[in-house]
Amino acid sequence: MGTHAFQAEVGRVLSLVINSLYSNKEIFLRELVSNASDALDKLRFRALTEPALLEGEPELVVRLRVERDAKVLVIEDTGIGMTEAELVENLGTVARSGSAAFIEKLEAGAKKDVSIIGQFGVGFYSAYLVADRVEVVSRAAGTDKAWKWTSSGRDTFEVEPADRATRGTEVRLFLKDEHAEMLEAWRLRDLVRRYSDYVAYPIELEASPADQDAAGESAAAEGAEPPKRETINRGRALWQRPKSEITDEQYEELYKHLTHDWEPPVARTHFRVEGTQEFVGLFWIPKNPPFDLDDPRKQRGVRLFVKRVLVMEDCEAILPQWLRFVRGLVDSDDLPLNVSRELLQESATLRTIKKQVTKRALDLLDEVATDKPEDYKAVWASFGRILKEGLAVDPEWKERVAKLTRWPSTHAAEGAADELVSLDDYVGRMKDGQEAIYYVTGESRGALEGSPHLEALRARGFEVLLMTDAVDTWAAEGLGEHAGKKLVNAMRAEVKLPDDEEAKTKEAAKELEPLVAAAKKVLEGKVREVAVSSRLRESPACLVLAGAAMPAHLEKLLARSGKEVPKGQRNLELNPTHPAVKALATLAAKDAADPKLADWVTLLYEQSLVSEGSPLDDPNGFARRVTALLVHAVS
Ligand code: ADP
Repeated sequence: MGTHAFQAEVGRVLSLVINSLYSNKEIFLRELVSNASDALDKLRFRALTEPALLEGEPELVVRLRVERDAKVLVIEDTGIGMTEAELVENLGTVARSGSAAFIEKLEAGAKKDVSIIGQFGVGFYSAYLVADRVEVVSRAAGTDKAWKWTSSGRDTFEVEPADRATRGTEVRLFLKDEHAEMLEAWRLRDLVRRYSDYVAYPIELEASPADQDAAGESAAAEGAEPPKRETINRGRALWQRPKSEITDEQYEELYKHLTHDWEPPVARTHFRVEGTQEFVGLFWIPKNPPFDLDDPRKQRGVRLFVKRVLVMEDCEAILPQWLRFVRGLVDSDDLPLNVSRELLQESATLRTIKKQVTKRALDLLDEVATDKPEDYKAVWASFGRILKEGLAVDPEWKERVAKLTRWPSTHAAEGAADELVSLDDYVGRMKDGQEAIYYVTGESRGALEGSPHLEALRARGFEVLLMTDAVDTWAAEGLGEHAGKKLVNAMRAEVKLPDDEEAKTKEAAKELEPLVAAAKKVLEGKVREVAVSSRLRESPACLVLAGAAMPAHLEKLLARSGKEVPKGQRNLELNPTHPAVKALATLAAKDAADPKLADWVTLLYEQSLVSEGSPLDDPNGFARRVTALLVHAVS
């Protein structure tokens, strides 16, 4: 009871909401109706196991009421309600982990619009866009005490005991003078139809006869008539209506309500499955990732309804993990109303649903990729790295996922370096004699383009995919092949390229034998093997992956995140046609124990490390060796 101070963030959020959203004031109604609808969902869900909660007030409804003289607009619901502690907690703090991020984003002024505010759970405070004082009277279901929360939206709020006959919440907005039009029935009707038509509960507009529109047929003079109630939304779960009766706008409003994304989605699919399993699915592909996409604490799943009743908000069992960016809902006729997460794990019904939904989601992605390539670019940029996980973990779907992937490649035209290619494009233009899809993995496109591993492939005109996401090595290995062509990591020791000059290569290898033997000794413990290379043209040497060795950039990534990484498991390959290597070979043949030989072999190894972006084992030794060379060269 008494006066409370808002959490510091709330004050900042409040002033930001008001300053950035002043031109979108009308959204306050959508936010408050949305909260009311959530409260009704929560009640209905709890009443499944505690039917007593419905006692005294069987109706589940949202009511809008106008007190014209006091300039008060009331939004009332018969939902779950709030206890005293919940009023303080829910309306006095910004609970979300993202609130700091939200404040930063808005304060940076990057996007002074509505597109981000809804994501952060600050919907209630939008009441202050139109009201200079707000009262919330609430009684939690199953309790017999009501409490009133009051605040003018400045530093403090009050909470005191209040009266309320039944469970539910009443939000009373004391409208600012300039927003008195929010008392007009036509205005409220229009806003509800536009923003909240999808709400699955009736939204009733309650007006005393004196408050009817001028055109109203009632005799205003009678005075004491009971208030008239008019349901102003269509009140049937939108997804249960035939598609032809739903407008794009209505779909979009439902999307925004469900996801808190304020930007329109890229595409949607709405379908009914009949037969042994009956369910309706409605799914969207967002354009932009939510700010907390990578927050593991954030549950992200699909809403699960059973016979129109919301039973689970984040049902991660409906879509595979690698489609976790797809948003939407399933409404099943076959699952029991009291499903638990454990039960879902075992449910054959759910397995069928998951399969169907996965297929539809992939169909939808295909459709965007084909019909709206520009939009697909944005989708891929936002979610590609998530989708790619499917290649590694889901053999059942990996071929379909593979078709959706897009990669940087050596094929990109001059000046269009950020252009991406599909695997089908790649296979379609493979050169005669090329048997595999080649790729390299590394930290950035720039670093990979100069990689020595590409030299022989380039010389043959083979295209190479330049993979730079952390998941890529894993994804490419998981995929294994596409359209009958193996995916081959061009950095691996085993890579065999078609070789027209095999005899010549063999001969060169023979000449290198003493050098290879000497190098093995010098580099013992640093590399696994030293071998003659057929993949190099301009560079004298490079490191390749052998056995279970990990690409250098992944080693670095793991080391940075504090993991133990086994070291020195790569092979050093020498280019038998390079003048420096040839000269060293001659030296090795003459005197394998020459100390200069050891220095120069070490230098070859070190420059291979530098070229792949790896740290040197002995930077000072490297500097000393280079200096010695310099002295030698200039004197
Ligand atoms: P969000 O709805 O995004 O969580 P809000 O600021 O709109 O954020 O609301 C904060 C919290 O207050 C809600 O999560 C809910 O727990 C509670 N709340 C708001 N309105 C109601 C209501 N009408 N009935 C019950 N609880 C409510």
